[in-house]
Amino acid sequence: MAVLVTGGAGYIGSHMVLALCDAGEEVVVLDSLVTGFDWAVDGRAQFVAGDAGDMALVGRLIAAHGIDAILHFAGSIVVPESVSDPLKYYANNTATSRNLIAAAVAGGVRHFIFSSTAAVYGMTGLEPVEEDAPLNPMSPYGRSKLMTEMMLADVAAAHPLRYGVLRYFNVAGADPGRRAGQSTPMATHLIKVGVQTALGQRAGMEIFGTDYPTPDGTCVRDYIHVSDLVAAHGLLLEHLRAGGESVTLNCGYGRGYSVREVLAGVEDVAGVALPVVEAPRRAGDPPSIVARADRVRELLGWRPAHADLKTIVRSAYEWERHLATRNR
Ligand code: UDP
Repeated sequence: MAVLVTGGAGYIGSHMVLALCDAGEEVVVLDSLVTGFDWAVDGRAQFVAGDAGDMALVGRLIAAHGIDAILHFAGSIVVPESVSDPLKYYANNTATSRNLIAAAVAGGVRHFIFSSTAAVYGMTGLEPVEEDAPLNPMSPYGRSKLMTEMMLADVAAAHPLRYGVLRYFNVAGADPGRRAGQSTPMATHLIKVGVQTALGQRAGMEIFGTDYPTPDGTCVRDYIHVSDLVAAHGLLLEHLRAGGESVTLNCGYGRGYSVREVLAGVEDVAGVALPVVEAPRRAGDPPSIVARADRVRELLGWRPAHADLKTIVRSAYEWERHLATRNR
């Protein structure tokens, strides 16, 4: 019995691989290395360079390793890019997922876990947002992910496959043991940009929008530590293997922080004042996105261990310092 992790050389996938290997699982990683790094894959896993949509390759891996579960992290994730190049997103996210699911069905894989996103909700006006909220994604990225959710539901009704969909909120931070982290050099995520600025790797940074209808005028997000997110996947895998039903779950903490609060946390951790300028709103940013996160706790018994904002920021900061020495 083994687990196939697509996108296992990427940010979240590489943390998942660590957790699975720590738990003694046999792990096969399939990653195209378009955005991932082969050095990010734990040495205990078997690494295969290739496309998650390559049905023949996936079929061979399923048969050779006795794969009973697929965790599908591979995909494209940049929202503005999905607006300018939607077909890339329908190819890399929707069509690739279709082929991977087809290979799973053909190979008799019974368990499938899919990385989805809070972007499937769009602007609900409902806070916190629960799993049953209306789904109106605002970008091709969100739609490309939602289509995969829909495919999984249809396929599970027709074939002996059960699935778990996790809708991620704002994933941040790094492995507390500094074994993995967010390594994309030009990543645009707030905490990444903040710690890079604190370390002098960027000359300065901007706050996008200070006139939102939020307590301090800046956007509010539900930041979740990558190791807690990965732990939820581990519990979900246990649930499916124990015969549990297919589920769709939010993955956040259920509480939000503003951009200013996050940057204050970075200043505190780094012990420096950040060179920050206030800039206009960034297109497409909803004022506030916070998860209603009861279901994942109740159903899976998930108990976050790194939920404190400073803990998240500190782990991101330490990883960035580690990367800087590594790349020197
Ligand atoms: N943000 C910012 N400056 C930056 C990067 C992000 O003010 O350099 C803001 C962004 O406008 C949003 C929040 O931080 O309100 C979180 O953005 P991020 O890109 O991290 O995640 P998103 O919520 O867009 O997925």
